[in-house]
Amino acid sequence: MHTLTLKPGRDKSLLRRHPWVFSGAVEKVQGSPATGDTVEVRSTNGQFLAVAAWSPASQIVARVWDWQRRPVDSAFFHERVQHAATRRQALLDGTETNAVRLIHGENDRLPGVIADRYDDTVTVQLLSAGADRWREAIADALFSLPGVERVFERSDADVRELEGLAPRLGWLRGGAGGRPLTISEHGLKFQVEIESGHKTGFYLDQRDNRLRLRQLAAGHDVLDCFCYTGGFALNALKGTAKSVTAIDSSADAIAQGRVNALLNELPQPEWIEADVFQQLRTFRDQGRSFGLVVLDPPKFAPTARHAEKASRAYKDINLMAFRLLVPGGALMTYSCSGGIDAGLFQKIVAGAALDAGVDVRIEDWLHASPDHPVALNFPEGEYLKGLICRRD
Ligand code: SAH
Repeated sequence: MHTLTLKPGRDKSLLRRHPWVFSGAVEKVQGSPATGDTVEVRSTNGQFLAVAAWSPASQIVARVWDWQRRPVDSAFFHERVQHAATRRQALLDGTETNAVRLIHGENDRLPGVIADRYDDTVTVQLLSAGADRWREAIADALFSLPGVERVFERSDADVRELEGLAPRLGWLRGGAGGRPLTISEHGLKFQVEIESGHKTGFYLDQRDNRLRLRQLAAGHDVLDCFCYTGGFALNALKGTAKSVTAIDSSADAIAQGRVNALLNELPQPEWIEADVFQQLRTFRDQGRSFGLVVLDPPKFAPTARHAEKASRAYKDINLMAFRLLVPGGALMTYSCSGGIDAGLFQKIVAGAALDAGVDVRIEDWLHASPDHPVALNFPEGEYLKGLICRRD
């Protein structure tokens, strides 16, 4: 077995079960591990710490597979994938939902592996050298899950570059079903473009928040900012909103949104292809107002280094949104930035309300659906945070 020995004192984070080893922590490497190979990680005094995947091109040179000395092989991936899938089964059984995240990376003890199930199809992202090395075992394990007919790889995220890996896209098991893939989420239908849509095709983390909006929407003029393929907008219509306006800068996303409205026999929202920052100002100038506003922007701060600039962007859209709310209206506002934690996000939104000159109460804190768990030992995860704020 190849061995990584850490510098004195650099075993602390692993002892706290944080699953990453940074390059600066390594004292020496014994053996000649190839990229993605399994290495044993030891402290200076030779104490066993973990088995991990070796990734020499990355700042994160090793990611932990297990805290026990055990073989990392096909059986290992079978067990982990089964375990993660079993935990999600209740979200599918007897429900009107057939799309869930099956594997949430480090949070499911599978660093670099993201897998989303869309009906009978799984889309997988292999984002680290270790995940890439075990492509076949991971694909087999996903393909063996009951009801899974095909597995598609969408490993085209930028983070692969940091691991020295080229993008990869294509069918790993089964093949295109020869039809658009349609999922059901709390009874609403959405077409998912797994080959060309964002990430793996759909933003499953917002599933339960979209249902929440449906329950709040009746009788209101609703504005869905950063609407993608209409996730929130169509839930507002399903919840008998008086009117729905949906903004996104992507023409493709809006085209898909139109199809999704038809699929559900819902009226078309007012679709606006525009930059949200500008469109909110246009609405202000037009004197338009809304009873409910959703802000679900892309991540403005991938890491803490981007937090300051991102804070200004979040503040700007939240301030504009508060100004567009009718008295008694509510804002559902989110951030999925890894570089901005829930506390900071709340401060930014509070600052926006202050500058907008409105009195606002937080009615609830929002988070990702339960198939996106957050491991307590892994605060770096990009987790969703949100607030429902009601204006006086
Ligand atoms: N709410 C969506 C997911 C939003 S993802 C859902 O429930 O499915 C973020 C979206 O913001 C993407 O569709 C992207 O095209 C869009 N976007 C990014 N920057 C934008 C901008 N400046 N103005 C408008 N849309 C933008």
